[in-house]
Amino acid sequence: MPELPEIQTIVDSIRPLLVGKRIDHILFLLKETSMHGRLSHFARHQKIIDVYRRGKYIVMQLERGHIGIHLRMTGKFISSYNAITEPTHIRARIHLEDGCILYFQDRRKFGKFYWIPDREKFFENIGFEPLSDEFTKEKFISKIRSKSRQIKSLLIDQSIVSGLGNIYVDEALFRAKIHPSSQSSSVPEKQLNLLFKSIRQVLKEGIALKGLTIKGYEYGPGDSGYFQSRLQVYSKKGEDCLECSTKIEKIKVYNKNTHFCPKCQILFTN
Ligand SMILES: [Zn+2]
Repeated sequence: MPELPEIQTIVDSIRPLLVGKRIDHILFLLKETSMHGRLSHFARHQKIIDVYRRGKYIVMQLERGHIGIHLRMTGKFISSYNAITEPTHIRARIHLEDGCILYFQDRRKFGKFYWIPDREKFFENIGFEPLSDEFTKEKFISKIRSKSRQIKSLLIDQSIVSGLGNIYVDEALFRAKIHPSSQSSSVPEKQLNLLFKSIRQVLKEGIALKGLTIKGYEYGPGDSGYFQSRLQVYSKKGEDCLECSTKIEKIKVYNKNTHFCPKCQILFTN
C-alpha cells in the first residue's frame, strides 16, 4: 500500500494536469469505487482549485466541496496523454472539459472516492502531517507517551502521525533504535527525539527518491521510485544488519509484517 512519499509523488505528478481545469463529468465503471451515490452529480462542471495530500488521501479541492481519494492497495492514475488506448482495470474516469481523461486504474478494487462536504470533520481523526510545521517534537513526544500501546501500531493507525504505513515505520524505528513491540509510554525521551527525526528523515528521503517501487507502484506510466535502495530492515529478513551484522528478524505486530534488528533495536516495556 502506498504511503506518504508515494502519494505525495503521485499528487505532484497529477496536480499540473488538474489545477485550474474544469471537470466535465466523472464516470464510475465500478459502483463500489464511489463512496457517495451523488459524487458525480456534485462534481459536475466544477473547477479544480487545488490538488494536495492529507495523510494517505489525495484531495481535490473544488469550488464547492472536495473529493478525497484513497488508493488503498493498487489504485493509480493514468492520463489520456499517456495512454493510446484505455488501460485495463479502470474503475473511474475523470473527464475534464479540455478533453483530457484521467483514468483511475485499480486492479484489486479497494480504492475509494469520497465526497467531502466538510473537510475539518472528514479529517478530524487524522493526526499530524509529519512534514508540516505543526508537527513539533514536543507535541509528538507527549502524544506518544500519553498512550500505552505497542509503538509500531500507534504509528501506523494514523491517529498521531498521518501518512505512515508499514514500511516507513519499520525503517524509522530501526534508525531510532527502538524495537517495534516497545510500549509507547516506556520509550525514553532520548529515543523519541531520535524517532521524531527519523520519521521526518525517511519520509523526506522517500519523497526525494519518488517513493518505493514494490508490488507494482508507479507514480506515472513506467515511472518508478528508488527508495528501496535505502531500506535497511524492511524485506531484509535473514540478511545481516548493516550496523551490527546480526540477522534481521521478521515478526507480526498489529497483524503486519515487521522487520527489525534484535540487537540494535531496544525493547522498552513497563
Ligand atoms: Zn543491528
